[in-house]
Amino acid sequence: MIDAGLCLSCQHALLRPTNRGTTYLRCALAATDDRFAKYPRLPVTDCAGFEPGRSLQ
Ligand code: SF4
Repeated sequence: MIDAGLCLSCQHALLRPTNRGTTYLRCALAATDDRFAKYPRLPVTDCAGFEPGRSLQ
């Protein structure tokens, strides 16, 4: 797993595996708030939408 920064422990992060064997990290907040990128550039070190409580590691 690459270092995704805050996204790794954020409740809004979703993992999207592809059939090519790679995995994208999608931000669920992007669907309703255009301040957030659908596929954030990682690692995210500062984010207004960050909500801890989940671990993707
Ligand atoms: S809200 Fe921020 S920290 Fe959380 S998944 Fe989206 S980009 Fe990552």
